[in-house]
Amino acid sequence: KGADKGGKGKKKETQLGLDAQKFEEFGDWYSEVCTKSEMISYYEISGCYILRPWAYSIWDTIHQWFDGEIKSLGVQNCYFPLFVTENVLNKEKDHVEDFAPEVAWVTKSGQTDLDVPIAIRPTSETVMYPFYANWIRSHRDLPLRLNQWCNVIRWEFKHPTPFIRSREFLWQEGHTAFAQKEEADAEVLDILDLYSKVYEELLAVPVMKGRKSEKEKFAGALYTTTVEAFVPATGKGVQGATSHCLGQNFSKMFDIEFEKEDRKKDHVWQNSWGITTRTIGVMIMVHGDNKGLVLPPRVAPVQVVVIPIPKANMTEEQKKKMQEASSNLYDSLKAAGVRVKMDDRENYTPGWKYSHWELKGIPLRCEIGPKDLDKEQAVLARRDTGKKDFVPWADCVETTKKLLADIQKDMLESARAEFNESIVRVTNWDGFVPALDAKKMILAPWCEEVAVEEDVKTRSASEEGAGAKTLCIPFDQPELPTGTKCFASGKPAKSWALWGRSY
Ligand code: AMP
Repeated sequence: KGADKGGKGKKKETQLGLDAQKFEEFGDWYSEVCTKSEMISYYEISGCYILRPWAYSIWDTIHQWFDGEIKSLGVQNCYFPLFVTENVLNKEKDHVEDFAPEVAWVTKSGQTDLDVPIAIRPTSETVMYPFYANWIRSHRDLPLRLNQWCNVIRWEFKHPTPFIRSREFLWQEGHTAFAQKEEADAEVLDILDLYSKVYEELLAVPVMKGRKSEKEKFAGALYTTTVEAFVPATGKGVQGATSHCLGQNFSKMFDIEFEKEDRKKDHVWQNSWGITTRTIGVMIMVHGDNKGLVLPPRVAPVQVVVIPIPKANMTEEQKKKMQEASSNLYDSLKAAGVRVKMDDRENYTPGWKYSHWELKGIPLRCEIGPKDLDKEQAVLARRDTGKKDFVPWADCVETTKKLLADIQKDMLESARAEFNESIVRVTNWDGFVPALDAKKMILAPWCEEVAVEEDVKTRSASEEGAGAKTLCIPFDQPELPTGTKCFASGKPAKSWALWGRSY
């Protein structure tokens, strides 16, 4: 009764569902969604979370897809140790300055103090590059393109948030070395393209590609490129993943030299790039609703749940027929490569099951009730829109496949429409803070000066939220007529920058 209404009434009936509403109490909503959908369990150490199978499976999908893509580009996997000495960590000055406050140290083994404390990697540039210096001798050793899938530790000060900002997170880190700058530049963009596909094609989350400002670029990099996502419910941008060109900064510090064909020596050109479990948090924040997760079919651990709905007054024969029909549907979906689950448990009501699987975000529910049995049809209900289709058994596999593809496409399209609506153009200071307070990102002409970015951050803090920073300088630039002034400083503008409050 009233099983499909959703919201708080439903929660009373099933003891499932969420207390907090996404657009009213976002923080509570997010942590409820993460825990009740069985993605995350909180852990006693702040900033550390347990990734339960429902979440890990999504990471697995991202891992497998991205791993296949980079291997076909010629990248090889490897593994370097978790620990790094202080000496090596300190080698690149800008780099360590940025990371130092977040580095965790091992100072004891058992009760004995270590002679020299050992750091836990916050990222592995300094762990790996001494070996690049040993391994690379000649142009024939290049390019060297390595990647590792691992964990890193950053003892973050900012408020930790599951997936988005954790103290230990999972990622891949690619570290490559080339003879020519052009090769490094090209790879930076190839990888960024893969990152945008992880977001857009796998997670159905739109992103903006661009370059980071000098203030926001990776410590020690020549330049950083990024895919930026946006959470409309909070009006905050979030750095999705970054692909850095390190230039020759690290190769000079670590003496990574090679002999060119003309016998002259040169330092290699290097890149590093990483994407983390943050991806999953962004997907939850963008797509989740008041009933729970909404998973895009490509990454959903289960794409369809089949739920037979027997009634107490059914004859044994009818019950048997219902069971057969659901099993047949399950088998044929499975044979067609659909990730399908059967929920024919008798100790739960259909209402409870609907809420449970909605909370977990399964893209499609396939119901068979008594009336459907007579009509030899099933009901296919979409998680994203709630729309129901009545489909003859014979067409179920084909329709399911089509619906899954539609859901994937529609989720990206509607998120993209919201993303685009969340960008406003501002050309002078007056419009800036009101737009931020209206939960928008701002595209504004900018002089690209670090001091101005710092000033904007201070000036734009309001009761509604923290100060804004540049999210990126989008690759896709609107026309900038000569004489255009920076919205904040009045100096000549060099580019349009995307600004926002952010995670
Ligand atoms: P970085 O090595 O600093 O460029 O970081 C690579 C990517 O990791 C960033 O673009 C973020 O998307 C992500 N990231 C940074 N810090 C965290 C964190 N504390 N938890 C999860 N992901 C993070």
